[in-house]
Amino acid sequence: MAKPTISQIRECIRSLNYVVSIHAAEELDDDNLTIDDLENIILTGKIIECQRDTRTQEIKCVSSVASRSKNEMPKSSSKSGLSATSSSLPPTSPSQLCASCGQPGVRLRNVTRSFGRGPLLLVIEDIPLWTCPHCGESYFTAQTLHEIERIKALRKSVAVERPIPVAMFQVSCN
Ligand SMILES: [Zn+2]
Repeated sequence: MAKPTISQIRECIRSLNYVVSIHAAEELDDDNLTIDDLENIILTGKIIECQRDTRTQEIKCVSSVASRSKNEMPKSSSKSGLSATSSSLPPTSPSQLCASCGQPGVRLRNVTRSFGRGPLLLVIEDIPLWTCPHCGESYFTAQTLHEIERIKALRKSVAVERPIPVAMFQVSCN
């Protein structure tokens, strides 16, 4: 697969024509970054380092933005955000070719994901997730991630309270 240039990647971002692997989406959550933060990093940031994935040989770029409007973004956060995303380009096409390996036959399934914990826990059901049977990659479209952000922002009005069992994983010493 041809390596996309930064201007091609930015064009994909502007047209929401890209996907984010489930692994990258989880890293964004872990770093408290939203999909808007990620887009902002790629659209306005500067590439400060390129790394090669030793397993897949993919080139991953580390990007940095000078500052955020609210608070300074830690370098490690911007790093994981962009490196994860650049690996999932180029974007999927309507013909449903895999965005990672380019083979046809990606499947759509709906998944349930949880965000936050304790009193801030939010569960979102029926999130569409594309999965490739050839390379095993799973990813969300840009539109899906923006919808997740919208639901998180409007949780008070769009979420319904439901009593659900929540368990804590117990680590045994022996
Ligand atoms: Zn694939």
